[in-house]
Amino acid sequence: MGLFTNKKKLCPICGGVTPRLLASKVEGQPLCISCAGKAQEMQGGDSGLDSMTIDTFREFTVFYDENETLRRSFQESFRYDFGFLGGSVSLDVPHGLMRFHAADSAMVFEASNLRSFCISEDENPLFEGTKDALLCHQSMIPDQVRNLESDIDRFKLERRQYEQLERMDKMLEREAKQRGESYSTHYYSAPDADRLKPFLKFRLKIELEHPYWGRRDFDQNAPGFDPSDPSIKVYLSEYEKKVEKLRELADQLMALLNPDAPRRQVSAQAVSGTDTSPGISDTPADAVAEIQKYKGLLDSGAITEEEFAAKKRQLLGI
Ligand SMILES: [Zn+2]
Repeated sequence: MGLFTNKKKLCPICGGVTPRLLASKVEGQPLCISCAGKAQEMQGGDSGLDSMTIDTFREFTVFYDENETLRRSFQESFRYDFGFLGGSVSLDVPHGLMRFHAADSAMVFEASNLRSFCISEDENPLFEGTKDALLCHQSMIPDQVRNLESDIDRFKLERRQYEQLERMDKMLEREAKQRGESYSTHYYSAPDADRLKPFLKFRLKIELEHPYWGRRDFDQNAPGFDPSDPSIKVYLSEYEKKVEKLRELADQLMALLNPDAPRRQVSAQAVSGTDTSPGISDTPADAVAEIQKYKGLLDSGAITEEEFAAKKRQLLGI
């Protein structure tokens, strides 16, 4: 224990012992473990620890200690997780409280701290909540996904070609080995299913009225397509499930913001510049068809094994 504590330097906030290694610091002075834990709560705040003086940090620790009363009374009634490292929104609607990660040490906010929120698909709002109303925007995503049919067909074709080329390359490598020749494997890049995604992230932005936090942001990855079997139906079903959960989150946040506020539907605005025609990959599609043709000739005995192998190498450019 003595090895890992720093007897010379005491915490400037509480006078406690400070760790010798990896201590959090304010104005270059190491903090004790307990005060460092409070400093951790500042992460994501408007002013990180770096920009704080010992005096402003001391004020914060007083504020944080006073928050203990709310932390004790907090009983989670609803929770939304944004995934690994994405944080979570935890609400205690009956007591009008919220916190932004699930730990017992997490600062608790009151409903009066909540100014507004917006849940969006990339930058396009889906739910916007203020004290006046909850705006529910019609999303363009389902229509965009339904229009992906030809893009998905093209993706599947490229994927099949990629798999054939990989198999063929492995076969050529085996043959070369058998002949005792050296062979350099070709690495073809698989077509990326992410290019089919109509948007990348769901976002939650919460605007606060609070001495230490003005805003909290959360991101969650949008659903993706399964590269081995991309399906519009599967995507839409996963998408709808996520939107349903976000709708519930919006309703719960409204219960804190103003439970009597009306809910308004906003129809979809024309979205400009969303032509997402994917780039054609440079997979030599013709080569595959050609090789298959020569494979047929080989099987029928019209050409020899050597001729076939030579033709393959020529067509694959190897
Ligand atoms: Zn301390």
